Amino acid sequence: MAAVHDRLGLVPIINAAGTMTDIGASRAVPEAVSAVAEILPEFIDIADLQCRASAAIAAATGAEAGFVTSSAASGITLGIAGAMTGSDLAAVARLPDTDGLACEVIVPAGHLVDFGAPVAQMIRLAGAVPVAAGTVFDAQPFHLAAALSPRTAACLYVVSHHTAQSGQIGLARAIDACHSAGVPVIVDMAAEYDLRRPFDLGADLAIWSAQKFLGGPTAGIVAGRADLVRAAWLQGRGIGRAMKVGKEGIAGAIAALETWRHRDHEAARGREAQIVGAWLAALRGSPGLGLRRLPDWTGNPVERLEITVGREAGLFAWELADRLAARNPSIRVRDDLVGTGAIHLDPCNLEAPEAAAVAAAIRDETGRSVAAGDGLRISWEAWRESRLRTALSWPERP
Ligand SMILES: *Cc1c(COP(=O)(O)O)cnc(C)c1O
Repeated sequence: MAAVHDRLGLVPIINAAGTMTDIGASRAVPEAVSAVAEILPEFIDIADLQCRASAAIAAATGAEAGFVTSSAASGITLGIAGAMTGSDLAAVARLPDTDGLACEVIVPAGHLVDFGAPVAQMIRLAGAVPVAAGTVFDAQPFHLAAALSPRTAACLYVVSHHTAQSGQIGLARAIDACHSAGVPVIVDMAAEYDLRRPFDLGADLAIWSAQKFLGGPTAGIVAGRADLVRAAWLQGRGIGRAMKVGKEGIAGAIAALETWRHRDHEAARGREAQIVGAWLAALRGSPGLGLRRLPDWTGNPVERLEITVGREAGLFAWELADRLAARNPSIRVRDDLVGTGAIHLDPCNLEAPEAAAVAAAIRDETGRSVAAGDGLRISWEAWRESRLRTALSWPERP
């Protein structure tokens, strides 16, 4: 592990969780690391640097233009702000006061997700009002059509494993329904590998995280129609100032995007498949563990291992996640569905030796709790409450 852990007194982490903001999102690619280091001591014209970013984003996505934001979340807020104000600088200066502007943003109800914070709040942050269309498991073109009105500024469409996964309107049909009313469609693609699909289908604006699969620094990427991108960029004179991205974020995101095109994606997929195969082999036959390869829900080219934790494992899935996290190095697994009794292992941020340590630790913790009989104690609700208590007592640590 890096010396920085020692220096700051931090526990090193083996990341079997995937790209999670809470643990630093991703390992930045070396090209992004050196781009950040190279530009930090220099002066550059930020508008020129964003022009350069626009060209890189256009080349990577097929969009007309783009710019870099401080995060995907701020990209959503700024994109929606731009859809409301256009290039009206007085309106930019007035936000989040939306007097006189169309300010409703239609969102399919099943897309009102929480990615660490509610996406509806990113809409409200611009002064806009989220309007749910349809119900959680049912959104169809007629639901969108009924929600559209002269007050509508945009539609926000979320592509993510966080959304409801059944009954959702497809992106192409959502774009059709909105475009026939002259309403732009903004697509949250924060964690999606596909950089082109929204524009192949005619979307007006789309937003990616630069620090998830791209391996860039903390930043977001906004791409789309030139007029909407410009309007979103102009928010830097208003609410966008509170979400400032610096030269290092912009330069690092450009480097990550340009590197993405030349990365050996086949080899990466091969490494990840090998890791999942090795986990299956290492954990097969462990009492109480149900193992299954799980393709990504939204079609990203990553396969994870789902481990359903039964009582014979001697502990609940959330207790297993906690015990893995309490080790040194701390092993973090995906626990967003842990309430269903399953943890998920994601290979995308792991080297083979780390992956082997993950499987060994799981065998170790389940074996130990069967022997000690000290598991199956904490209910899921009690576990959730204890997580909240930890957050509410920060900066005290448990
Ligand atoms: C991660 C994520 C975000 C937020 O991205 P940041 O770059 O962390 O702001 C937004 N939407 C979805 C669907 C995400 O997965």
